[in-house]
This record gives sequence, structure tokens and C-alpha cells, in this order.
Amino acid sequence: MRPAQRQAAHAELAKQLRAGGPVPCRVAPDPEAWWSQREGDAARSAAAVAACRSCRVRVACRDYGMLAGEEFGVWGGLTPVDRGAARHGGRT
Ligand code: SF4
Repeated sequence: MRPAQRQAAHAELAKQLRAGGPVPCRVAPDPEAWWSQREGDAARSAAAVAACRSCRVRVACRDYGMLAGEEFGVWGGLTPVDRGAARHGGRT
């Protein structure tokens, strides 16, 4: 991953976040669902993924999560497992 790509993706995500209203992960009653890494939290993680589908910045968030190589959390509706699969040739 090239730092310039990561910076550009982060800048685009930040710009889109500033441009509009709240996004689901910032207003959800259970924001920790986006960071569920613990065993037994599959349902919470699935809820976060579902909430991302209606997010106005989903594509930029997904792209940043992928380009930055984020190891944790749900980004743009992709879990760490989803991102790993996409990096290894899968499509999401
Ligand atoms: S797409 Fe990104 S910004 Fe939107 S709710 Fe999901 S994690 Fe939050």
C-alpha cells in the first residue's frame, strides 16, 4: 500500500464526512458494534455491516479501509475477514 493512496483515500473520506449529516456508526446506540472483535459478537458485527449499507459515505469508507490495510473494525460494510478475502482476489 502506497502512503499517497492511503492519504488520498483518508482525505476523501474526511471530506465526505464533513460534507453532510451524521453517519450510522457515529449515531448508533451501539457504536462498539463496529469494533466487535470478541467471540460471540457476530450478531453485533452483522448489525454494523447492515447499517453501513445505508451510509452516504460507504464507498469512500470501504476504499479507505481497504487501502489503509485496516486490521480491525467494520469499514464501509466490510469486516476484517471481508477485507482479507477481497485482498486475496475475492469480490465484495
Ligand atoms: S460506511 Fe463507514 S462511516 Fe458509514 S457507517 Fe459504515 S463505518 Fe461508519
